[in-house]
Amino acid sequence: MRDRTCHCGNRIGDAAIQEEPEFTTWGWIMLSMLGMTPRPHHIAFRCMHCRAELGQSRDPKLLARRSGRPNNSVSA
Ligand SMILES: [Zn+2]
Repeated sequence: MRDRTCHCGNRIGDAAIQEEPEFTTWGWIMLSMLGMTPRPHHIAFRCMHCRAELGQSRDPKLLARRSGRPNNSVSA
């Protein structure tokens, strides 16, 4: 069951699947009110088209990459 696909047929590793940091409630408070970037609780692999979540990771290396730095890949 490692090859889960989203509604549009993408899977983890495809360009359409983005790593999105997910924060706890307290993390969101730090982010929005204090302007700090907390370490994410986990990383969600989410399709940018259908928003389906294909998996999660708590890999410390991924988390570290996503914290302490503003998101430099904002492309709407
Ligand atoms: Zn999709």
